[in-house]
Amino acid sequence: MKKALLVIDMLNDFVEPNGALRVERAERIVPKLKALLDWARGKGIPVIYACDTHRKGVDAELALWGDHAIEGTWGAQVIEVLRPKEGDFVVKKRRYSAFFGTDLDLLLRELGVDTLILTGLVTNVCVQHTAADAFFRGYKLVVVSDCCEALTEEGHKRALEYMKAVYGAEIRTAEELMAE
Ligand code: ZN
Repeated sequence: MKKALLVIDMLNDFVEPNGALRVERAERIVPKLKALLDWARGKGIPVIYACDTHRKGVDAELALWGDHAIEGTWGAQVIEVLRPKEGDFVVKKRRYSAFFGTDLDLLLRELGVDTLILTGLVTNVCVQHTAADAFFRGYKLVVVSDCCEALTEEGHKRALEYMKAVYGAEIRTAEELMAE
């Protein structure tokens, strides 16, 4: 089994207080996610950031949510404390799924990855859609329950249950994962 750690949309616009589409509950996952990133790098597990990078005035999603993570802006950058390090990968996406219209699948295949560890925002939108596309492509899934968040606790929990039931995702805490 070869794993990769995927960090979805931990961007200024979603996390910072003055972000365009702030997820208030996002801040609470930052310390654990930081620890998980350091653990992965230490173990040689590839770290891949999947980042909303929208084209202003073009991307369909913006009509629903308003402008956020516009290409080239502060809002589209990964938050300072979780900045990618040398050797990490960054995949730019324009839809909820990190696979849609990106080279993520090619990257994972070239890295020999068969198991994807999912973290980031938001559990019932981009994380869940990425899980669906990963499942369709034959990847095994681990979702880190305390390294993902949603707008509400209910939305978060229901998405975890859905990914477990429908995509066979294993649900683990960061602590459990790092102890394995
Ligand atoms: Zn978006």
